[in-house]
Amino acid sequence: MTEKTKSKRAPSTPHRASQGNRDFRKRRESRPSDVSTSQPRSAPLTGNTAAQPAILLNAGREKSLLRRHPWVFSGAVERIDGAPASGDTLPVRDSDGKFLAWAAYNSASQITARVWSWREDETIDADFFRRKIASAIAARIHLFPSASVGGARGEGGGNATQNTGMRLIHAESDNLPGLIVDQYGEVLVMQIGSAGAERWRDAIADILQELCNPSCIYERSDSDSRTLEGLELRCGVLRGTLPENIEVIEHGLRFKVDVAEGQKTGFYLDQRDNRALTETLSSGRDVLNCFCYTGGFSLYALRGGAKSVLSMDASADALHIAAQNLTRNGLDESRAGWQEADVFVALRKLRDQGRSFDLIILDPPKFAPTAAFTEKAARGYKDINLLGFKLLRPGGLLFTYSCSGGISEELFQKIVAGAALDAGVDAQIIHYLHAGADHPVLLSFPEGAYLKGLVLRVAG
Ligand code: SAH
Repeated sequence: MTEKTKSKRAPSTPHRASQGNRDFRKRRESRPSDVSTSQPRSAPLTGNTAAQPAILLNAGREKSLLRRHPWVFSGAVERIDGAPASGDTLPVRDSDGKFLAWAAYNSASQITARVWSWREDETIDADFFRRKIASAIAARIHLFPSASVGGARGEGGGNATQNTGMRLIHAESDNLPGLIVDQYGEVLVMQIGSAGAERWRDAIADILQELCNPSCIYERSDSDSRTLEGLELRCGVLRGTLPENIEVIEHGLRFKVDVAEGQKTGFYLDQRDNRALTETLSSGRDVLNCFCYTGGFSLYALRGGAKSVLSMDASADALHIAAQNLTRNGLDESRAGWQEADVFVALRKLRDQGRSFDLIILDPPKFAPTAAFTEKAARGYKDINLLGFKLLRPGGLLFTYSCSGGISEELFQKIVAGAALDAGVDAQIIHYLHAGADHPVLLSFPEGAYLKGLVLRVAG
């Protein structure tokens, strides 16, 4: 097993860095499992240390658990009995001592516990994780006709060579708080964001190996949220050997994935369906793709017959891979331009140069990881959307996204409406977009719906 601690690694390109911190090369973030809160930290009181370990809630604070929200905030905790260590599974009880859930304890986090199970008769052991992981994989195979996981194939007879990437486990929304697993062909990338999942890390890797039979399981436990959880950052091979070249095929397009140094787990699987939509609307259009990373939307637009595609990102590494991806797919280089730039600055330059486009994509990094950043993030979204509207020709299309947990869908729409108003354009929403079906949202965990997008058509 080769592991490297983060401090020994050269800082690599982060993904979706915060707009407030323009030093985005030193930041890393991940999307869904790390939705943290702005609730003040208050260390739960130590209760009877000789008693059976348990989390006892304040009176009336059981409500969110009864609604099956899987987090116990520190402010809801009356006391912790016993002397549990972070990562231990404890019963959570209401103020009358009634059982509510089995949850993983973390003394270092504002989220004191994350629920594994609501059933008192359930034992949280390796078999429990095998059942949960198998059920998450079964759901993907059921939902994706072309899915292929560890020899199991989707039933729809789809062509498995058209899509080789998928999120297999989507943390809280797959009832596995803090655990993300992405599949890129024969390679799995695992990201752990909670003390509970950390405790079961080896067992989880064994189960993934057994059920999916990958050539490699790589760990990318390096999201910023780990610091909030009191966990050290860690990356490295967990099982097997990391192939030199990893690629993912998405709707027949091939993308290089750098699972060790790339952003997130290497690729933004969540935008798969939205990229495909862009392809269908690109024909004959001049396209501007802002925050392009390794060229996802750009390649789809080119394949869809775009007249030209100008792509911008702040990461030279990402742009380098993007150019390779273009060649890898035999797409026409003469229609593609790449620019290493800060989008906030570059959009102003394009405006000052009097440039205009028929289709603009804005898929920025996470400006607001938590509600505390909402106001600042709103200014960032307003700014780029306003500039986007100004650069659009009459009848043009704006694909605009937010992956910020701290910005609700409703607020995002309001911000975009404000931007259109200030830009002096009338626009209609023609699509409401979200992450794909391999990123489900647990009904009782709305925080899972981090990615929202709008496609707008400005008046002709
Ligand atoms: N649309 C991409 C994913 C975008 S992720 C896809 O489909 O794969 C967000 C990207 O924004 C990252 O590649 C990051 O390098 C880039 N980025 C972050 N801050 C930036 C800034 N101020 N200007 C330009 N790019 C930025």
